[in-house]
Amino acid sequence: MTTKTLFEKIRDREIPATIVYEDDEFIAFKDIKPAAKVHVLIVPKKPYPTLEAVEMNDQMQLRLLQLARRLAKELGVSDNYKLHLNVGDKVQAVPHLHLHLLGGFDKETPTAL
Ligand code: 5GP
Repeated sequence: MTTKTLFEKIRDREIPATIVYEDDEFIAFKDIKPAAKVHVLIVPKKPYPTLEAVEMNDQMQLRLLQLARRLAKELGVSDNYKLHLNVGDKVQAVPHLHLHLLGGFDKETPTAL
């Protein structure tokens, strides 16, 4: 039996998280250490270790982006958000593909990216 990733444990309700969205393919929950007013992680339930483990033509990538736009709207930041995706073990803390949705910035607070 393989060890579950942290996000699989959240998916399976073994670790608590504030879940904001779920369907058959994705789960989205608040980041435990938010870097913006809105900071949600959008995670495919299938534990791809990284974006580079996804087949180039896999339409999941499109659905992930569509879901990010939908959640940005639902969370009230559709005119003010960033999507951030770390790829590779040098920059990923959690080896399970996830898209950061960060939103609710104000002009006074400069951001790194
Ligand atoms: P990465 O650096 O892999 O792109 O981002 C991993 C993210 O997962 C970080 O922003 C971190 O704050 C978040 N995170 C780590 N552990 C937990 C946890 O137990 N619960 C939640 N909700 N987020 C977590």
